[in-house]
Amino acid sequence: MAGLIVVISAPSGTGKTTICKHLLESFIQIKHSVSYTTRKPRLNEIEGESYHFVNMEKFNKMIKNNEFIEWAKVHGNYYGTSKRCLNEIIKENYDAILDLDVQGGINIRKKYKKAVLIFIIPPSMHELRSRLKGRNTEEVEHLEDRLKCAKEEVSYIFEYKYYLVNYNIKDTVNNLKAIIIAERHRISNLPSGLIKSLKKGME
Ligand code: ADP
Ligand code: 5GP
Repeated sequence: MAGLIVVISAPSGTGKTTICKHLLESFIQIKHSVSYTTRKPRLNEIEGESYHFVNMEKFNKMIKNNEFIEWAKVHGNYYGTSKRCLNEIIKENYDAILDLDVQGGINIRKKYKKAVLIFIIPPSMHELRSRLKGRNTEEVEHLEDRLKCAKEEVSYIFEYKYYLVNYNIKDTVNNLKAIIIAERHRISNLPSGLIKSLKKGME
């Protein structure tokens, strides 16, 4: 038995990072699969926790060595999911949460048919702009690029299994937990030994 692979995607600024942080603080049995990126760290970001920050040379080397399950260029930078990172989590029977763009979500599902893809929707474009602006991490030009991408990203929503609208963090995190709990209890995820030992006790 291995843990679930849960992917969340959303236009930049919707709240993925914030949602992940709250989920990890209050929900055991789930770990963040930390991606590699060539993007420069933001002020509050911690190496190895937010991302593994690497240069283009190291990223290219990792591509060459087949170290990524998937990788993509997003908003002008490169991001990739490490095979080693993800496998370590699910082999230990933890669930893994991945914060990926839509290309990443679709590519993960190609490799892991049972991956649970969840799309987070901002309440409105007005609110998305205000959150992205309020985060104060992008220069105006990059901020506009990220907003422009939102329309295309949303068009991939039908590739996803669930949606959540991120009105407020508390409800979104609770609803995300509900999805994960339901997915953990699918019959297809029933540990084989459980029914066997129950039946043995019935003999
Ligand atoms: P993403 O990871 O999707 O780019 P972030 O988690 O960085 O988005 O959130 C962008 C900004 O919006 C942050 O300043 C964060 O505090 C804020 N934010 C996130 N979720 C909400 C929410 N439900 N209501 C109001 N502000 C939010
Ligand atoms: P940010 O620069 O705001 O942290 O992330 C930009 C985008 O890259 C977000 O949509 C985020 O989900 C995505 N992303 C982060 N890590 C990965 C990854 O490993 N692979 C892919 N495909 N996208 C990623």
